[in-house]
Parts: sequence; structure tokens; C-alpha cells
Amino acid sequence: MTKAWSILPEEWKGILAARGLRPFRADQILQSLYRDYIDDWEEATTLPKDFRETLKQEFPLTECRELEVSKSSDGTQKLLLGYADGQSVETVLIPATGRFTQCISTQVGCAMGCAFCASGSRGVVRSLTSDEIVAEYLAGRKHGEITNIVVMGMGEPFNNYDETIRALKLINAGKGPNLGARHITISTCGVVPGFRRLASEGIQFELSVSLHAPNDALRSELMPVNRRWPIDELLTACADYTKATKRIITFEYTVIKGVNDSRACAEELARQVKRVPMAKVNLIPLSPVAHRPDFKTPDDQTLLMFLDVLMKNRVQTMLRRSRGKDANAACGQLRLRHLDG
Ligand code: SAH
Repeated sequence: MTKAWSILPEEWKGILAARGLRPFRADQILQSLYRDYIDDWEEATTLPKDFRETLKQEFPLTECRELEVSKSSDGTQKLLLGYADGQSVETVLIPATGRFTQCISTQVGCAMGCAFCASGSRGVVRSLTSDEIVAEYLAGRKHGEITNIVVMGMGEPFNNYDETIRALKLINAGKGPNLGARHITISTCGVVPGFRRLASEGIQFELSVSLHAPNDALRSELMPVNRRWPIDELLTACADYTKATKRIITFEYTVIKGVNDSRACAEELARQVKRVPMAKVNLIPLSPVAHRPDFKTPDDQTLLMFLDVLMKNRVQTMLRRSRGKDANAACGQLRLRHLDG
């Protein structure tokens, strides 16, 4: 059984042709799946009844139920979504002027164990399949027209490469949701083999890399992935990626008070990122997490000093605001609250 939301538009054409059905049925199917938001093939009333029955048997829809909605005073909404096996993930909807961004999860939990991250604090349960990721997107889409996707929810996308990329191709498909590749940002903690694979896809997705520390000693402490792929290897993969694709890389740097927020860290960070052509930096003040009460958000003065050092070193830098704090929006927090009930 192939799940309906894992099938690309051109594949539907082949499936129908093999059954002697006319190609316009593919358009009707895509309309039902991606414009009418059906939850059951029975609702696809443009299709003949016996064909709906066949679809139900052979290409089932994916269950993805909205278990909880948590709204923040800044307009951010966080949804807890449940799948057929009882597992759940979070997706966050972030409105901004002219934009409506969805932050999507690719795994239930995460195996990477970054010290400051709530999603990784209990390990990984399983990866999502492409149809589950598409269903997650559609659950968000019901709340408004999504203009941008960031793959910055729970999970490490490069640890679930095939299903994640397939889902993004489905969401990008012209006859599907048709969300532009340049409006889709994949974020990785630095799983190096993923860079070359992504470069070979020839699709213009945006790429972010979670760096968070300018040297191996500190980065290995914060991010265990650094012991497998240290900074030198990571930055080489980043430089190769920008050369091969001519696309920029954005480095994410979560600033933690007294941990990675010194002037020396900022100077070392500037030197490191300059090894990658077309690199940018996003500074993100830490969102406090329950399992690490010792990690605190830096004050504005420190953040501005850090920003200033990078700018003086000619590194293109943005200081990001945290959104959705009162909606448990730091990755993984809503699911944890649910698990701990
Ligand atoms: N695994 C991927 C994507 C998910 S995490 C990655 O690591 O990039 C998305 C981003 O949120 C990463 O940059 C991550 O380091 C950051 N993040 C996780 N916990 C955070 C916290 N408590 N405060 C601020 N940023 C956090």
C-alpha cells in the first residue's frame, strides 16, 4: 500500500495510465488532496464511486489529527499533531508582515542530543514518512496560506534524508501545493554527508547550518554531532556546497549566556564563517528549556556586542527575536508537556 500523500503528481499519471484511466483524473485527485483538504476519499466527489473505493484500499490517506493548539500573544500558533500509531510531533505557525511561516518536524524526538534543545532531551522515537510530513504541512495549511517553510522543528532532517526531501518535493510540486523551493529552508546540525546529497538534487532549497560554537572544544560540549563531524570537516562541506550550488548558507548561532557569548567567541566565529563563501549568520537568543535551568538568555547588551563584532568583521548578520515563548514554542516543549501530562 502506497500512501496517497507520498505520490508525486507525475507518478499519479503513471498509476492511472497503468489502470487505463484518463490523465484528467490525476488533476481531480491532486485537487482533492491539495486544495480541498479531504480527510477521506469519500469526500472526493468529482471521482466515480468505485474509483474512490479503489483509492481508499490502495492509496490510503494519512491520519494526522490536531491534538492541541497553543496560541501565543504574538500571534504564533503551535499545533500538536497525532499520527495513527499514537506518536505526535509539533508544528509552529509564525505570522509576520507579508509572510506566514510554518516550522515543520521531520522526526518524533531527535537523536542528536544538543545540550540546549528540548526535542533531543529524550532521544528519537522514529522518523516521519514523507506522507506524514506532507500531512503535517496540510494541517498547518488549514490555518492559512503558508508562504514559507523552515525545517526547524523536531528532528534532524539529514538523519531522515530521503523521506524529508521527498516530502519537500511533494510540497514544491507545481500541481501539488506549489510552494517555491526558495521559500523552503532546511536546517541541519551538521550531518556532513547530507550536504553533497542536497547539492546533487539540483533544487534551490535554502540551507541553514546550526553552528552555535566557533571551536571544537565548545561545540563538542554543546553538540555531540561535532565529535563525528568536527568544525573543519563541516565548514569544508559548507564551502563545497556553496561553490557547487552558488547558493548561500546561513549559520544559526543560538547565544547562551556565559557559554558562547563572549567577545572572543564572536571574533573566532567571524574568522570561521569567512572560510565559507556567501555565508550569513543568524543570532538567536536562547529559549530557556526545562532540562537545563543553567542555560540562560543573554541580555540585550551582550547580544548587541556580539552582533557588532560580527558586523565589524564584515559578516552579514541578523539578530533574530524569539517568537511564541508563551506557547511553549521552543522546539519540543509542547510535546514534552504532553508526555509528562
Ligand atoms: N536538527 C536541525 C533542525 C531542528 S533545530 C538543526 O539542528 O538545525 C532548529 C534550530 O533551533 C537549530 O538551530 C537549533 O539549534 C535551534 N534550537 C534548539 N533548541 C533551542 C533553544 N532552546 N533556543 C534557541 N534555539 C534552539
